[in-house]
Amino acid sequence: MKSYDAVVIGGGPAGMTAALYLLRAGVKTAMIEKLAPGGQVLMTSEIENYPGFPKGLQGWELADKFANHLEDYDLHRINDEVREIKVGSPIHTIVVGDEEIEAKTVVLATGSRYRKLGVPGEERLLGRGVSYCALCDGNFFRGRDVAVIGGGNSALEEALYLARLVNKVYLVHRRQEFRGHRCYQNKCFTHEKIEVIRNKVVEEIVGESDVEALALRDVASGEQSQIKLDGVFVFVGFEPIMDFVPKAIEMVPNGVVTDVEMCTNVPGIFAAGDIRAKQCRQVASAVGDGATAATSAFSYLEKLD
Ligand code: NAP
Repeated sequence: MKSYDAVVIGGGPAGMTAALYLLRAGVKTAMIEKLAPGGQVLMTSEIENYPGFPKGLQGWELADKFANHLEDYDLHRINDEVREIKVGSPIHTIVVGDEEIEAKTVVLATGSRYRKLGVPGEERLLGRGVSYCALCDGNFFRGRDVAVIGGGNSALEEALYLARLVNKVYLVHRRQEFRGHRCYQNKCFTHEKIEVIRNKVVEEIVGESDVEALALRDVASGEQSQIKLDGVFVFVGFEPIMDFVPKAIEMVPNGVVTDVEMCTNVPGIFAAGDIRAKQCRQVASAVGDGATAATSAFSYLEKLD
């Protein structure tokens, strides 16, 4: 069985930062990533608030920079899915693919996955007009009409991205107030291609073989209406990816519970980034979590020896 001093699970900004800090401290480290390194950042059209890049940059560009930074270090990369973590004392066992590996410390950094609306038509028309990634699918809707659902930063940012490509974006939110940052709100509310629809919930995504319309209900009056369009982009938040996290680790619905040093309740297991139960979900905070988790793991290893 392969064994490591540290195993980082997840290759997004939090995981890559944790791996970088551990490797620089001389810790024998493996990073497990299901697909390509980058995580949610790869699905983000443009990142405007990562310090040092005042003109903004594409999500994939930032992910690429993080990944390149790891190139000079002896990182053991495992491309597979973690199925289980068997909590031990002091050695933990990780079941990844068909293999088992041992780790003195584990950093959980699997991030989050998009939340679904849960309305009729959403599953059935996925890939036929329903999408959760503007960067991946926006191009299919050039010159056509689409809706973006949600009122957070993702919805606002991706509405602005889509407005560059499509004929019209209906930005549909269930409340009057948006929770996304004011700077994105201002850009959306004044954009000639974006029509903001407030206080309406989506009842159904309508279409036979492709999306044809969006059925809405006004939250105050109950009045029903339909908008004819070709695509629906859903950005109603994210859920932490915790399927594989053992019950011994304390979790709440919005993530794994840690202290400020990124320690979970289980000795030797740390968590960083969007998998954590926390408010601020930013690339900058994920990077900070990763650095903190690595520092805590290093201190833990020193006491273990
Ligand atoms: P979010 O902030 O949780 O916002 C989700 C939005 O979807 C909310 O407006 C919510 O409405 C709405 N919503 C939730 N369930 C819904 C439903 N069933 N039907 C209709 N609307 C629904 O999610 P997010 O925008 O994906 O952002 C996630 C985190 O990443 C946030 O912390 C955000 O700040 C961060 N983020 C940051 C940036 C950036 O800084 N550039 C970019 C993207 C994401 P209510 O407001 O009524 O609850």
